[in-house]
Amino acid sequence: MFEDLRDLYQEVIFDHNRNPRNFRIMENADRKVEGFNPLCGDRLTLFLKLNGDVIEDASFQGSGCAISTASVSLMTEIIKGKTVDEAEQLFETFHKMTTGKDEEIQLEAVGKLAVLAGVREYPARVKCATLAWHTLDAAIKNQQESISTE
Ligand code: ZN
Repeated sequence: MFEDLRDLYQEVIFDHNRNPRNFRIMENADRKVEGFNPLCGDRLTLFLKLNGDVIEDASFQGSGCAISTASVSLMTEIIKGKTVDEAEQLFETFHKMTTGKDEEIQLEAVGKLAVLAGVREYPARVKCATLAWHTLDAAIKNQQESISTE
């Protein structure tokens, strides 16, 4: 498994896995959703602080594999200061990118997230990378307290 994944573990993923950004419980969060990927055992809780339409703060807790941790860490960094619409657009782009529906990886659109696009070569890992985003989607829509990728 480690050998197969080696290509994915680029510097950014290593870095975010070792030192996850925004890894904390948020007091007074406006949204709190738990995400679970039973395929791998990744579990996270996403916290959002909203100011009108703007995601003022994002943080998470939980434990998962390196890809899921790096993905949620990157995501919390990227969505801060974005509007919920912008965040949903990123989710769309990221989802297409990881599932290989877009031929080209849109580097400009997703920035650092592009490092996770390598998961599309490993279908079993796609859910690890997208778990954070499905959880974000649920948090933005504010309809569920927990989601599962299965
Ligand atoms: Zn995983």
